[in-house]
Amino acid sequence: MTYSYDDQNIFAKILRGEIPNNTVLETDHTLAFADIRPQAPTHVLVIPKGPYVTYDHFAAEASDAEIVDFNRTVARICADAGITPDTGARYISNAGPDGVQEVPHFHLHILAGRNMGRMVA
Ligand code: C5P
Repeated sequence: MTYSYDDQNIFAKILRGEIPNNTVLETDHTLAFADIRPQAPTHVLVIPKGPYVTYDHFAAEASDAEIVDFNRTVARICADAGITPDTGARYISNAGPDGVQEVPHFHLHILAGRNMGRMVA
């Protein structure tokens, strides 16, 4: 699958420092920040710094170092947010038209702090 990355998307601008964000955690390969329209008490977006459009794009083309860094960052955010087996959370990544993806830079939503209800269309 060939993806074309739009470097004018809003998360690319955040990564270049052109738009402010409320950073939760930053590592060599990953940035996590609070969603500006939170849907839950904890609503963090985790993005790789590399130019990946969707989850499958990232999973296919990112380096092992990027993938490990991304996932370990997710784990750290969850621990810091108090997400446990007793509380749980929801992890979502919207992709493309069918996924109704608004920003074409791969991002994982971490939602926690309330019961999220069943996923329905
Ligand atoms: O549908 P998608 O997962 O692409 O939604 C993008 C998310 O990015 C939305 O939850 C929106 O609130 C968030 N966002 C943000 N900061 C921006 C622009 C969008 O947190 N500057």
